[in-house]
Amino acid sequence: LVIPDFETFCQQIQDIFLDTQRNKGGKVADYIPQLARVDPEQFAISICTVDGQRYSIGDSSTDFCLQSSCKPINYCLALEELGEEKVHTHVGREPSGQSFNELALNLKGLPHNPMINAGAMMSCSLIDNKNNIADRFDKVNKTWQALCGGKKMSFNNSVYLSERQTADRNFALAYFMREKNAFPENTNLTETLEFYFQSCSIESSTYDLSVAAATLANAGTNPLTGNSIFKSSTVQNCLSLMLSCGMYDFSGEFAFKIGLPAKSGVSGALMLVIPNLMGISIWSPRLDAVGNSVRGVEFCERLVERFSFHPYDSL
Ligand code: GLN
Repeated sequence: LVIPDFETFCQQIQDIFLDTQRNKGGKVADYIPQLARVDPEQFAISICTVDGQRYSIGDSSTDFCLQSSCKPINYCLALEELGEEKVHTHVGREPSGQSFNELALNLKGLPHNPMINAGAMMSCSLIDNKNNIADRFDKVNKTWQALCGGKKMSFNNSVYLSERQTADRNFALAYFMREKNAFPENTNLTETLEFYFQSCSIESSTYDLSVAAATLANAGTNPLTGNSIFKSSTVQNCLSLMLSCGMYDFSGEFAFKIGLPAKSGVSGALMLVIPNLMGISIWSPRLDAVGNSVRGVEFCERLVERFSFHPYDSL
């Protein structure tokens, strides 16, 4: 489905970018110094269509850490390996209605969904868990690389070390889950958490991450390389949960207004998927009260105002 006039479309994206750039609201995450020190003015948008057409504007070659935007991919990896039924004996698929690190589990003693911290740690505990931890990290890293089209991902070791040092809440969540017997057998808790922090500390730019978003838009096949990374059923499940749970405590509002699957991260990352059309990667570090990029959300709102990308626009 080629965008009929890609150049005009890109001009409109540029307009929206410039309008959105005026918004100086919100503040950068400050729970670790590596995020607190990021230049808050940075802003980037990259687009990759399912036909491989590309457009970028702003700081699109600057790397930032994935943070929570790693969660959908770890969920996909767990699904590919174990299947939907097995994965969901360990994690729910219902919005939590609470913040991403709330000390809360569902009535079965499981994380509410894979898009919040407890659920993301659960995904990590499931991925290739008979293997050694180095190979398991390689698997995650290589998957991102394949999703993005081949370029090596960066790893921000300082972010990783800081995450690990300020991890009391995540440890509390993990112990809570262990008490409820939520993890698979023989889970090493510390290793699992470190694996999660490492996933959060992978870095890339909107330029490359837009290809990962486009791969999801394209049912798991990378539009640039033609490689199939995930099965379409895996991507369907993932997008469903991104739609209902991907934007923290704003997920219901986002689904209502925008109607598209997305995942944000506290680095200011936002991955937006327009199924069968394109992937968009947005990055701007200032966050709103729930932890979403202020400009990221505004960009999405302006985008669906101008284009009928909301699935019910066609009614
Ligand atoms: N890595 C941080 C945590 O686990 C933040 C994750 C996020 O982007 N919300 O608390």
